[in-house]
Amino acid sequence: MEECLFCRIAAGTIPARTVFADDEVVAFEDIQPQAPVHLLLIPRRHVANLNDLASGDHLLMGRLLEVARRLAGERGLSERGYRVVTNTGPDAGQTVFHLHLHLLGGRPLGWPPG
Ligand code: AMP
Ligand code: ZN
Repeated sequence: MEECLFCRIAAGTIPARTVFADDEVVAFEDIQPQAPVHLLLIPRRHVANLNDLASGDHLLMGRLLEVARRLAGERGLSERGYRVVTNTGPDAGQTVFHLHLHLLGGRPLGWPPG
């Protein structure tokens, strides 16, 4: 998956403003932030999107959500709230086909989304 942007970020061959990394998960600042806090959380392993998950991947998704919860807390978002989103496929506007959670917060977020 050498051509995948987020695989390259996970491998460190493309720079990113990384805020968290362990053996499974990397989190970094979105390059075009849509809110005062806009982080992306990715699995190191290449998975295109939710459609690409296998049955054993609930542990991986749990890890991603756990890291999102922790990072939101570190940024003081727990009380006011925040949003965790994963766009899947063209109708959702997915542009990078390596699974990622958007963690958005720091301002009121409209609902329903566009
Ligand atoms: P999505 O549209 O859900 O696939 O989200 C892709 C996100 O990746 C967008 O919010 C982009 O701003 C972000 N993005 C694209 N390239 C980079 C990059 N090199 N570093 C950080 N974020 C990026
Ligand atoms: Zn990838």
